[in-house]
Amino acid sequence: MTPALRIGGFVGFSTVDYPGLLAAVVFCQGCPWRCRYCHNPHLQTFHEGNLAWSEVLTFLRERTGLLEAVVFSGGEPTAQAGLDEAMRDVRALGYRVGLHTAGIHPVPLARVLPLVDWVGLDVKAPLDARMDAITRRPASARPVRLALDAVRAARVPFELRTTVHPALLGPADRDDLQFDLHRLGLPASRWQPFRPQGCEDPELIGYS
Ligand code: SF4
Repeated sequence: MTPALRIGGFVGFSTVDYPGLLAAVVFCQGCPWRCRYCHNPHLQTFHEGNLAWSEVLTFLRERTGLLEAVVFSGGEPTAQAGLDEAMRDVRALGYRVGLHTAGIHPVPLARVLPLVDWVGLDVKAPLDARMDAITRRPASARPVRLALDAVRAARVPFELRTTVHPALLGPADRDDLQFDLHRLGLPASRWQPFRPQGCEDPELIGYS
């Protein structure tokens, strides 16, 4: 039996997490990376979570016709074996499915893409060792390259986005990132400014 999705948080109404649609957001518990600027560090550890999937489904059943989409965010949703089944549940209720991912697990990502209507993929740095300085995990660009291939091959609408903190990603890094994407035939990444909310790194918060 597929394990149930482990959920660390839930937002019942969002206008910003799925382009153009009113969405609920499921924050999946657990992420193997340790990005310095992470604003959801409480979602990094792999534990059982604090909300049952059945409770989320009850909420979603009551909102059909009011909400349009459900976004799986995190944490890293593709780290969970229960993601496929949860997406099927959501589709069966008539919702569109959105996915926020950092491309950490390209094989499970490719498996769920047929169930997904839109992907927001975080590309954290140029596709080389500079990414490791942000994720604090070795060789992190390797799975991201594969994830980018998988998303493009699936022909699912997607957006690439990159959090910019000047201490972690300077102008040359940003140029190199966009050049890496361009060489792969991918669109440019959208810059999103660092937000201190939730971040636990005092150096980044106090940086000026
Ligand atoms: S990939 Fe996302 S959830 Fe995981 S540590 Fe980085 S910012 Fe946090």
